[in-house]
Amino acid sequence: MDIEISMKIKNYINGEYVNPISDNWIDNYNPSIGEVYGQLPDSNSQDVEIAYKAAEAAFRGWSETTLDERSKILSKIAKLIIAKLPELAMAEAKDNGKPVRVAKSIDIPRASANFQFFANAITQFASEAHESVGQNAINFTLRQPIGVVGCISPWNLPLYLFTWKIAPAIAAGNCVVAKPSEITPMTAYLLGEILTEAGLPKGVLNIIHGLGTTTGQAIVEHPNIKAISFTGGTKTGAHIAKVAAPMFKKLSLELGGKNPAIIFSDCDYNEMLQTTVRSSFANQGQICLCGSRIFVEASLYQKFKTDFIAAVSKLKVGSPFNNNTDIGALVSKTHLNKVKSYIDKAEQYGGNVIFGGNIVSVHDSEDGYYLEPTIIEVDDNSCILNQDEIFGPIVTIMSFNDENEVLAMANDVNYGLSATLWTNDLKRTMRVSKQLEVGIVWVNTWLLRDLRTPFGGVKSSGVGREGGFEALRFFTEPKNICIKYN
Ligand code: NDP
Repeated sequence: MDIEISMKIKNYINGEYVNPISDNWIDNYNPSIGEVYGQLPDSNSQDVEIAYKAAEAAFRGWSETTLDERSKILSKIAKLIIAKLPELAMAEAKDNGKPVRVAKSIDIPRASANFQFFANAITQFASEAHESVGQNAINFTLRQPIGVVGCISPWNLPLYLFTWKIAPAIAAGNCVVAKPSEITPMTAYLLGEILTEAGLPKGVLNIIHGLGTTTGQAIVEHPNIKAISFTGGTKTGAHIAKVAAPMFKKLSLELGGKNPAIIFSDCDYNEMLQTTVRSSFANQGQICLCGSRIFVEASLYQKFKTDFIAAVSKLKVGSPFNNNTDIGALVSKTHLNKVKSYIDKAEQYGGNVIFGGNIVSVHDSEDGYYLEPTIIEVDDNSCILNQDEIFGPIVTIMSFNDENEVLAMANDVNYGLSATLWTNDLKRTMRVSKQLEVGIVWVNTWLLRDLRTPFGGVKSSGVGREGGFEALRFFTEPKNICIKYN
């Protein structure tokens, strides 16, 4: 697993690394130094068609393998990811700009856990039976794999989210045409080698690189790719839904978020403070689950503001390859410019930058895309800063007076992915959690994940749920079989 500076990433189709048919290539950037370090295929619909054909040919054999066999192969992939953790983590940091420390402790272990989890889950997956009492009939639900499915993932947690889709898809017996983000293709490319080594039959998983608007679009438009699991922006999700709807494709859409962190004065203060720094700025704030709108009860507000600024000022912005870096580079120049534009217009949008806000020049990496963690004070939840998903190291803070007020503000947004609630009052926990319009509520914690739980959002944050048996249900088609026995 050698990552050459000038290397060309290839598509992985039918178990082989291949060039794109057009021989067109896209530059791949290292955001920590702002330089091109390789190229990836600019695949088109012909490449997608070849991948589809390979997947279609593999489907029958793969769907008939025993659960034990599938489970063993998935486990092997999980183990190989761990065996190659240092190389994969370096590749992720270089491609994405995230601290290598984070890739080592979170991204790559989780990619492995995704395969291991579904290796186990598929052996426990069951469906219902219903006896039609008095009619001498028994119904049972047969859950069959769908066929060839498409998986499309974003750049923020590249291998982590790519495998979160692929693992349940293949565990359930489907064959896959998958596309990682063109901005972070490297670890998905390296996964091909692992799949081969693990003995995954050819054609079961095909990885195609290219632009969303061509490669991604070709996957969504393909008439015989019957389901699409997509994670990415809300605008792209809406477009995909529009393309897929007339073909009646099954869709799982995991989209953007603008998540509230609600802090009541009775919380465990130190734990809240430490976790809120993390929930605001982990992965440079580029996690759909980051708590980007912080609401603090008025009686605690001034203390929180002072302590939060002090804690955030300790975060070190720097090269992803330094072990003491907390905030690495943003993923691309375009994204840096987008995020910075919100800071530049903060005042116009009704905000007051109370910490950070500047581009950072990192020694020996002066052209990298670094930005200070930034805190903006606002006094109106309807302002753009509290309504747009900025997806960078920026949080807003504002105070609230009571539970009803903060609930109204938390819900007054188009998104509905997650919320974080800090309180020790059990009755309030239940009252507020029930009324929050989100798919996930974390109480006195953040991003504590149990892979068995349903994961996803409401409103503009998406449709459907991933995780646990929900993912296996998505990737199978239920068929009712009714047997009369008299
Ligand atoms: P995008 O929507 O831009 O892209 C996501 C993926 O879709 C990429 O692989 C992209 O390819 C591809 N794509 C783009 N256009 C099309 C198209 N027309 N047809 C098919 N595929 C297409 O999102 P980002 O990569 O910018 O990711 C950030 C977004 O993802 C944020 O909004 C974030 O909230 C969301 N997200 C949601 C999560 C959730 O679980 N709810 C988790 C993580 C992120 P390419 O990159 O090559 O353009």
